[in-house]
Amino acid sequence: MIFLTTECDVLVVGGGPAGVISAYTAAKLGKYVILTDAKSMDQIGNKTCGDAIDLRAPTLIKDKLGLELPHGDEISDIIERLVIQTENQEVDVFGDGFVVDRHIYGKRLLNQAISVGTEVRPHMNAKKSLVDGDWVVGAEFKNKENNKTEQIKAKVTIDCSGRNFVIRKTLPHEKFPLLELEMKPDEICASYREIIKLKEEDHNYHKAIYLIYNNLVPEPGYYWIFSKGPYELNLGIGWKLSNPNKGANMRNIYNKVTHKFFKPEDYEILQAGGYTIPTRYPLFNAVTNGFLTAGDAAFHVDPFTAEGHGPALMAGYYAGKQAVEAIENGKPSTEALWEYNKNCMEAFGTLHCKTQLFEETLAAVKMKGLDYVLRRKVLTVEDFSRINSGEGISTSSLLWKVMRASPRYLLMLKFRKLAKGTKKVEELMKQFPTTSAGYNAWHSKFVPWFTSYMKSF
Ligand SMILES: Cc1cc2nc3c(=O)[nH]c(=O)nc-3n(C[C@H](O)[C@H](O)[C@H](O)COP(=O)(O)OP(=O)(O)OC[C@H]3O[C@@H](n4cnc5c(N)ncnc54)[C@H](O)[C@@H]3O)c2cc1C
Repeated sequence: MIFLTTECDVLVVGGGPAGVISAYTAAKLGKYVILTDAKSMDQIGNKTCGDAIDLRAPTLIKDKLGLELPHGDEISDIIERLVIQTENQEVDVFGDGFVVDRHIYGKRLLNQAISVGTEVRPHMNAKKSLVDGDWVVGAEFKNKENNKTEQIKAKVTIDCSGRNFVIRKTLPHEKFPLLELEMKPDEICASYREIIKLKEEDHNYHKAIYLIYNNLVPEPGYYWIFSKGPYELNLGIGWKLSNPNKGANMRNIYNKVTHKFFKPEDYEILQAGGYTIPTRYPLFNAVTNGFLTAGDAAFHVDPFTAEGHGPALMAGYYAGKQAVEAIENGKPSTEALWEYNKNCMEAFGTLHCKTQLFEETLAAVKMKGLDYVLRRKVLTVEDFSRINSGEGISTSSLLWKVMRASPRYLLMLKFRKLAKGTKKVEELMKQFPTTSAGYNAWHSKFVPWFTSYMKSF
């Protein structure tokens, strides 16, 4: 039985980074926004996470919305280096950003959303989407405080419910054929992390985050060490759910790797927990009539590093802005919301497709192959950044590199393949449709090529 129905302009489901920024943006632009979350008010904004975020997204929301960069006790450490480490080698990659206290930073953003008029409804567990014809018109919730069913109707509903994507996955496919409604096991990473405090001596990881390819970690996957400031570290591990190891012995393997770096008697565990992260290319279409989705709910996570905090903030901004523009233009239809897709592809989607190819390359060459090309200086940081920008590896330098890689020159061909793939991603993404009319044609060109290219490594 439905006890209460409320109406608003914009309904945001989920109060993580994507949700709070969607709500902030839409409320600041004058709309009546309701933000719901299944958690209690105090816990909204908190999450088991690696806590690292690069500068790009906080800078975007500062420039576009005037929201201050993380500061004061929101920051655990400032990051100046991202280091990729194999068993015997390490490469320093330029990587400015922060390791944040997610709860404190998340709470500040939530309070800012409230300060511009967002109405926050905690304890509201979204159960399903509400649909009228081929329009999304809101969502149905179980209020965990009184166990009653409530409906909230809205001109635009934004699904920011994270890896649960509860609104999108409860849409009937026959009415919304342009939206993907599922996630497969090889598109999700299981992950476990601890925040530890060293008892005696401080650590040597200040101002750095380390992604570590250790042969104990099932591939493709990695172990991380992120500085949380003096004496404290955020340590974690993750790999794809499709891996035969699944999540079963993750804690065990985590302990084995951790104890290679830190003796158990030298630290105490401050926090521990695990969760899953979608790690695949983004949802190319994240809109339909009366609906947008952002953040993990739309697979807005870098498939190589599993960074999703920054993309969620960026997507939240574009989603809130697009929702308001579409409402003000009279009808928030698929067409009126379409530009959001393009904005997401430009902000991070193209990059995420490229990093997924990088991830596939690493899975093919394995930790030993990466170790080899770094040790023999066959590939440098500059090469990786050229590959990533779509410039590729020039034929003359390729010949030199193949010789240098000898006798394992086949490894170089894999990196050459990666370079060609990133170039093609760049080309095809430039053709991303400006309206929904061109979507099926573009999708049927991009996705079959991309998925078969990934398998060919
Ligand atoms: C172990 C781990 C380590 C990570 N490390 C990093 C890192 O170092 N850097 C980085 O950038 N990213 C990292 N990530 C990914 C990052 O946490 C996410 O990409 C990011 O939080 C996505 O933000 P979001 O707003 O989309 O979703 P979330 O932050 O997951 O927020 C979703 C919100 O929706 C709410 N919700 C869910 N279901 C419902 C429902 N049915 N009804 C109502 N509300 C609901 C939840 O309570 C939550 O508040 C990590 C993830 C994990 C699991």
